[in-house]
Amino acid sequence: MTKSKDKNACDNPATKVAHLGRDPGAQHGFVNPPVYRGSTVLFPTFDKLRSREQDYTYGRRATPTTRALEEAICQLEGGAETILVGSGYQAVTTAILAFLKSGDHILVTDSAYDPTRKFCDYMLAKLGVETEYYDPTIGSEIATLVRDNTRLIFTESPGSQTFEIQDIPAIAKVAQAKDLWLLMDNTWATPLYFQPLGLGVDVSIQACTKYLVGHADAMLGAITSTTRAAKYVDNAKETLGTTPGSEETYLGLRGLRTLQVRLDRHQASALHIARWLEARDEVAQVIHPGLKSHPGHAIWARDFKGASGLFGIVLKPVDTDALARFLDDLKFFGMGYSWGGFESLIVPVLPGNYRTATTWAPDGPTLRLHIGLEDVEDLKADLEAGFARMATRS
Ligand SMILES: *Cc1c(COP(=O)(O)O)cnc(C)c1O
Repeated sequence: MTKSKDKNACDNPATKVAHLGRDPGAQHGFVNPPVYRGSTVLFPTFDKLRSREQDYTYGRRATPTTRALEEAICQLEGGAETILVGSGYQAVTTAILAFLKSGDHILVTDSAYDPTRKFCDYMLAKLGVETEYYDPTIGSEIATLVRDNTRLIFTESPGSQTFEIQDIPAIAKVAQAKDLWLLMDNTWATPLYFQPLGLGVDVSIQACTKYLVGHADAMLGAITSTTRAAKYVDNAKETLGTTPGSEETYLGLRGLRTLQVRLDRHQASALHIARWLEARDEVAQVIHPGLKSHPGHAIWARDFKGASGLFGIVLKPVDTDALARFLDDLKFFGMGYSWGGFESLIVPVLPGNYRTATTWAPDGPTLRLHIGLEDVEDLKADLEAGFARMATRS
């Protein structure tokens, strides 16, 4: 074991993110691993070529850069193995495909990331796999939906547009009793604020594009598995040919080093603004699991170590022009998809358009906010000016 690895043997997440996946001794003392760009890996002898007994055999499989980040994420998630893929969405599709065959039935939370649903409704349907959506708050009642051909339960907690907290331990109990694979999209909390594998989940999926990369400058995904699940995910990676880019992987490693401080700041600012919004007349509802008013708050407090910077609000009914006046001239909140970067974002979302097992039909528009790393007083002033514009007759 190298010196840097000894240092890595610690339990504190803030220390872990600073030290995991690094081995300066192996790279002339330089603090960060280099970006290995490569396809061909040479074998020194015919014997080695035949046996493939060397650490690296082909660029698509692994490089020292990908291994460094995989090892770090794996330790943060408490898994047996992590593989990196080219995007969070590819992590979702690769992980789901790993366990299925034609004729299977799967249970997917109604709050799942919309492209995840599209994959199920289009690609899985084409392959002869039936998807059934369930109420995210179903808990142990999910047992009533399990059929003889049910293979897998997919969870996402909280949902990234509607923020329902799922009772993962209750669902895990059912999955274990019925011998089903349990997958979770853990992007919102990251492994620093939620550790699915410790609560009975087999596979934890991370859209690293969001908080891990943290600067809105790369696409990257990770799949972390238990020992039991790892060989299925490995086979899927090999046969589907998923692979992350070298630079993107490096940006993931770079983002990882500041993940704890960034998340803690996102958490504090988002809670501050969520509470401020709860007291505003324009707002009908704030949907943030860290608030006592959230229906999933008790489960969140039991299972999560924190809340990230993403939450929702429902405005009191306003017409489209008024909503446009609010959104169009915000100074610091950008309007755009994705989240987890340093800047604040806001987008109207329409969960009612895709949900099938549950309804989403509030009287006013639903908005999703990502609270970035800016000064909270500036952010509040920005929103306040938006509310004032919303109230003026145009
Ligand atoms: C963004 C997102 C993904 C997909 O990640 P990409 O890297 O954008 O492909 C998956 N799940 C959730 C919850 C997300 O928010």
